[in-house]
Parts: sequence; structure tokens; C-alpha cells
Amino acid sequence: MTSLDTTAVPPTVLARPAGTAGTLDARAVSAWFGDRKVLEQVSLLMPAGQVTALIGPSGCGKSTFLRILNRMHELIPGATLAGEVLLDGADIYAPERRLTAARRDIGMVFQKPNPFPAMSIYDNVVAGLKLTGVRASRPEKDQLVEECLTKAGLWREVQDRLRQPGGALSGGQQQRLCIARSLAVRPKILLMDEPCSALDPTSTRRIEQTVRELVHEVTIVIVTHNMQQAQRVSDQCAFFLAEQGTPGAIVEHGPTEAMFSTPVDQRTSDYVNGRF
Ligand code: ADP
Ligand code: MG
Repeated sequence: MTSLDTTAVPPTVLARPAGTAGTLDARAVSAWFGDRKVLEQVSLLMPAGQVTALIGPSGCGKSTFLRILNRMHELIPGATLAGEVLLDGADIYAPERRLTAARRDIGMVFQKPNPFPAMSIYDNVVAGLKLTGVRASRPEKDQLVEECLTKAGLWREVQDRLRQPGGALSGGQQQRLCIARSLAVRPKILLMDEPCSALDPTSTRRIEQTVRELVHEVTIVIVTHNMQQAQRVSDQCAFFLAEQGTPGAIVEHGPTEAMFSTPVDQRTSDYVNGRF
């Protein structure tokens, strides 16, 4: 297991401009929990500036795949993997590559909004800086907080109460706060694991809108069970399936429009049309 380290970081967070979306390339990724194989040879290119949606039934390995993309999988006891994950051509698992760097480049938003509830809205946004070893001055932080909350679509609602606790916000606001927190370290990739599953339709739409606005500066990989959402937000889709007793694998992937209008595989057609 690799421990978090804080060396070799940029001098300040603003040294890295926003708007540097990256390309993720997963090559022949397999994963195990103990002896049990849960992903089989998953290869997927997630191009810079696009939203990739991962769809498929529960238990087919979508969350496991996302965790592999930012090195969270290796933190689970008994979890192992094979294959490569390249970020702009560099293997994020290369021995010389620091876990902190992977974390800074590749952010994650989860199904259940998880701001630090007792921490202020302001401190929530900048919390990731310290965790990933990025230094920022007070004026830089002020600028970042406004910038990231604006991008997450939350600034206007909270600008007068930045010192209130994150836990006092509504569920949808909390999720947008989590997005702002992810953006503060200037990631190249944002991974989102069913980010709207716990939210009401209005909050869901706002997150979807934010996703489309953000993709110009950060590449997004989103897991969703909502087929309309996949169609609304994604440029390409990958359909995962774990057929009886077999590990999860990608059945089909391609441009979203084509996946929904002319799926090649019958199983994809059945799934996107709600037949299982
Ligand atoms: P999905 O996100 O598509 O619902 P997951 O990636 O969560 O699927 O799970 C894939 C498979 O791996 C499932 O069979 C699940 O039970 C198993 N699994 C997930 N997390 C763990 C874990 N921490 N320990 C053991 N098995 C796990
Ligand atoms: Mg999942």
C-alpha cells in the first residue's frame, strides 16, 4: 500500500491553470477482491474534454473501475488489479508516480454528498489543498473559493454565508459543494459515482448542467443508472455487464447517440431500453 506523501508539489495551486483537461486510458484492467475476479480486461479511452458515462446493472464493477482510475482501489484490503491506467500517456500506477499526484489530478464525487459537515463552506472548498499537499496563500484561497463555487453553480446561493457549516446546506447544495471541493486542486479528471442518485430532480438538473459546463476544463467520467441522464450529459457511453458468475466487462462502448439509437449488441439494446 502506498502512503500519502506531500513532496514534489507545485509552489501554489494557482501555478496550475484551470482548463487543462486530461485523457485517461484504461488498458486491460482486471480487478479482484481476494480470489474473486470482479473486472475482466476492461479497456476504455476517456478523451480530454468529453463526458464518459458508465452504465450497467448493479454489481457489474462500475464503482470498482472508477476507484481504479484514481488509485482508491489499492487502499481496500485484499483488493488487487492488473492492467494499466494512463493519464496523458503516463501510468498513474508507475512506482515513481506519487499517490498524491494521482489524487490531485483525478478528483472524485460520490453518490452521497460528503462535505465535512461541521467545517465551514469556505474551508470545505479548500480542504483538498492540504490533503494533496498544495500550498495556497489567503488571497489565492479567496479567489479559488469564489471561482470553484461559481463553477459548481453554488456561489450566488452561499456567498454571504461562507462561514456557515457545510452540513447546513441542502443535499443538492452539499453535492455542489463537493464538486467545488474537487475543483479546488485543479484536477484534469473528475470521476462521479452516481452523483445525483440521492438528489431531487431539480438538484439533479443543476448538477447535469454543471457537468456540461465543466467538461471544457475537466474530463468527466460519470456512473449513472439514469438512461435519460446518460443521454443528456455524456459524449460517449460504456455498457458494463457481469453475466452470471463472470466478472464485469464492457459489452459495448461508443458515442452516446449511437449507443442509444443503434446499439450493436442485443444486451445493450435490452439494457438501454429498460428490459433488465
Ligand atoms: P457497481 O458499482 O457496478 O454496482 P461494484 O464495483 O460496486 O459494482 O461491485 C462489483 C463487484 O465487486 C460486486 O460483486 C461487489 O459485491 C464486489 N465488491 C465491491 N466492493 C467490494 C469490497 N470492498 N470487497 C469485496 N467485494 C466487493
Ligand atoms: Mg456502484
